[in-house]
Amino acid sequence: MYNASPERYANMKYNRTGRSGLLLPAISLGLWHNFGGNDVFENGRAMIRRAFDLGITHFDLANNYGPPAGSAEETFGQILRKDFAVYRDEMIISSKAGYYMWPGPYGEWGSKKYLVSSLDQSLKRMGLDYVDIFYHHRPDPNTPLEETMAALDLLVRQGKALYVGISNYKADEAREAAQILRRLGTPCLIHQPNYSMMSRWIEEGLQDVLAEEGIGTIAFSPLQKGILTDRYLKGITPDSRAAGPSVFLSEKEITAEVISKVSQLNDLAAARGQKMSQLALSWVLRGGKVTSALIGASKVSQIEDAVASLNAPELSAEELEQIESILRG
Ligand code: NDP
Repeated sequence: MYNASPERYANMKYNRTGRSGLLLPAISLGLWHNFGGNDVFENGRAMIRRAFDLGITHFDLANNYGPPAGSAEETFGQILRKDFAVYRDEMIISSKAGYYMWPGPYGEWGSKKYLVSSLDQSLKRMGLDYVDIFYHHRPDPNTPLEETMAALDLLVRQGKALYVGISNYKADEAREAAQILRRLGTPCLIHQPNYSMMSRWIEEGLQDVLAEEGIGTIAFSPLQKGILTDRYLKGITPDSRAAGPSVFLSEKEITAEVISKVSQLNDLAAARGQKMSQLALSWVLRGGKVTSALIGASKVSQIEDAVASLNAPELSAEELEQIESILRG
């Protein structure tokens, strides 16, 4: 029997999502890895419980998270039923559709057929009546943007999603999507791009568009899938993502050059009394442009580290310059 901590709102910071009424926690938890059918259920359950106890109200999923695809939503559905039935109104749950999910012409990309069917499947897997945020997961070069955005608008009108967002859209695509959604009467709440010290593409145009359009930003993989932590400083341990079955982080990405930079950043973090992972999160959230840093975790302690990063002082101009100099190499 789980009873959420009465202190759960004592320390978390909540940021307004663009020009909307929705506040998101500065740290959100994603279920891309470690919640699939092949992972240990009780570990996932412990992470969701601990996250919620620390004020993390937002949990991010997608139709294809697993493996196998769909199993992260099933795991999350079980956890919701067992532990969170009475807390649903304190949670912001998101899902997405865009990547390959089922065979045939209607199982990926951006048609209305795919998005509507996919959200229906996600709701069944999670045992929910609605998601709080539904995203188009990646732009579709072949479907008119009007159709994809109309599908998002339709799902809100059907009560299956409260808000909608886009993910992995470039600056021009995001602006056009936002304009179409505004015309339809369903504003674009949020954009979910990759953003970390080692992935800076949103600084070249997208951030300006999001500020102008009043759209929030939730930065995925702020720890660069684990590279921006102390995980790989002494080699690749067997319990890490790089050593595991995930195809999304290979040992080849952990080069000597990368480790040399992370090692210097780790020294800078230590001088601030932070762990490397905490510095990476302070950096992503610096200056208030990013609504929420969307982390992943394989153990409870990683979630505790992330939330504790919010207690650190803002990065100074001098520290930011030192970070730039290390990243330049
Ligand atoms: P991160 O960059 O936060 O990487 C998380 C991984 O870093 C953990 O699984 C763990 O890996 C390692 N880690 C975390 N904290 C620590 C720590 N304190 N010390 C050492 N290692 C640590 O994010 P993810 O790549 O997991 O992505 C986060 C979420 O973003 C996803 O779950 C998903 O919701 C979303 N996402 C969205 C995408 C999109 O296209 N919209 C694409 C990718 C992600 P280890 O297993 O080695 O312990």
